[in-house]
Amino acid sequence: MDPHLRARPSPLNLLVPESPPPGSLTPVADGLFWLRVQLPFRLNHINLWLIRELEGWALIDTGIGDAATQAIWTELLTTRLPEPRHVTKVIATHYHPDHIGNAGWLVEQSQAPFYAPLTEWAYARMLSLLTEAVHLPTIERFYRQFGLDEPTVTAMVTYGNHYARNVTPIPSQVRRLRDGEPILLGSQSWQVTTHGGHTPEHMCLYNAAQNVLIAGDQVLPFISPNISVSFFEPDADPLSDYFASLQRLRALPAHTLVLPSHGLPFHNLHMRLSQLEQHHHERLEQILRFVTEPRTVAEIMRHLFPQDLDRHQIMFAIGEAAAHANHLSAQGKLKRTLNDNGVVMFRVA
Ligand SMILES: [Zn+2]
Repeated sequence: MDPHLRARPSPLNLLVPESPPPGSLTPVADGLFWLRVQLPFRLNHINLWLIRELEGWALIDTGIGDAATQAIWTELLTTRLPEPRHVTKVIATHYHPDHIGNAGWLVEQSQAPFYAPLTEWAYARMLSLLTEAVHLPTIERFYRQFGLDEPTVTAMVTYGNHYARNVTPIPSQVRRLRDGEPILLGSQSWQVTTHGGHTPEHMCLYNAAQNVLIAGDQVLPFISPNISVSFFEPDADPLSDYFASLQRLRALPAHTLVLPSHGLPFHNLHMRLSQLEQHHHERLEQILRFVTEPRTVAEIMRHLFPQDLDRHQIMFAIGEAAAHANHLSAQGKLKRTLNDNGVVMFRVA
């Protein structure tokens, strides 16, 4: 779906009809500000959140670790933010570079504590420190077992550890945020919940007093969050975790104000949860109709995403195809075998 956002009537009941300009700071709830910054990808922006505390600002997500994003932070923290301009907490919803990219840089400057779920911090730390000598064989094995052709495997391996290039050094210490516990931000209590599917322990923050959910990438309004297997868990079933998470989020009020990391804030949480569930069920059906004979994950990917894909898109698309095939296999609907070359094959059971 086109991530470029334009004003349009939406049944999701958007908070504002159009995106604010990049770099602008928009109040969205009591003491809570929305900072939209640009990303150098097709997904061209990310939403970050700032919460006013007595002695400064708690930052929720930090943008990708590039000079343009750092320039925005520097400007905010030296001139533009209401005083005091001190950073009190740096918080990451999950390990992806557009969220955690400047965490280390901000912590280094401010000496503020860094907060994240433990698995998210550990993934970030691991991926940022993996040398190519250690990591490239894993990447190669991952793409080869899913049946990508050799030139594409080579292209993906040459792409290398792009994660490390998009983050500043991940903080060496973390204050662990656990599922179900409260965290005080400003004068208000937020409940931490952690969710599988998009990443292993993705954090959402819910403020019951204001009925506001900081959703990260777990629930997005205009695109479906990427549900992928990772290099390290190619046989996992993250889609089951994601379905469980969508179900769990239904416990929140139907018209919660959702603050997503991409797109625009919206109110109709339950409607969006249903749409996302439906989207994945349709994709599962599409695969079941396709794999009447043994197919590789690469073939399933080309069927689901017939358009030309660049390396960045292949990374998401192959992981997404594998996640759906693995889910069907876990349910006994697909049979998973290995061919003579050790490539995973799926067909209808
Ligand atoms: Zn993400």
